[in-house]
Amino acid sequence: MFQKVYPLLLQLFYPKLCFACQVHLTKKEQSICATCRYQLVPTNFHNKAKNPVLDRFWGRVNLEHATTAFVFTKKGLLQQLIHQLKYDNQPQIAYELGKIYGKVIRHVPPYKHVDTIIPVPLHPKKQHIRGYNQAEKFAEGLAESMNINYNTEWLIRTENTSTQTQKSRLERFKNVQSAFELTTTAPATANILLVDDVITTGATLEACCGVLLALKNYKVSIAAIALTS
Ligand SMILES: [Zn+2]
Repeated sequence: MFQKVYPLLLQLFYPKLCFACQVHLTKKEQSICATCRYQLVPTNFHNKAKNPVLDRFWGRVNLEHATTAFVFTKKGLLQQLIHQLKYDNQPQIAYELGKIYGKVIRHVPPYKHVDTIIPVPLHPKKQHIRGYNQAEKFAEGLAESMNINYNTEWLIRTENTSTQTQKSRLERFKNVQSAFELTTTAPATANILLVDDVITTGATLEACCGVLLALKNYKVSIAAIALTS
């Protein structure tokens, strides 16, 4: 009797809420309600030999593949979630989106061959101010669903660059070009999924790839929550 009632009591006092809109979830719903889930439209870029994310990096870095999880529309739910993630101290949003997308790509090549997920690092000072790295939270969710590790020690950010938002594409690239370094903890061979929260120009990811692909036995794919223009 107690075993049966206890989860119901728990549900009564600590009801599970949708991470996107905070409504109470039904038994069948996990972390996100059906209404919000419907508004998060999958890109299916991971299944495509040609997609807008690959196009953004074409001719710049030699990637295995590149993808983003959900379609970004101005004023849409995803834009609202990304805003909360960045400015509203809600790191669990990136984690939950990572868990959802990890389940989608874990059986899809080349993503199923990845051995380590690396989030784009924030400079330690910036991370201290914000309290978390949103790319790392996305990596954590992906890693859990894909049943592989994520690593924050191999690739580090050595320069605290100024904000990218007001800069042109060339300025952005120059700004981050030398901001990253590989540490001696990194192995000689790795198949990496490099992840960020949002891809805009791709300058930051390109700089990270430059460092990782300097090692000839490294393969790199890219995943982010969304692609914005
Ligand atoms: Zn919801």
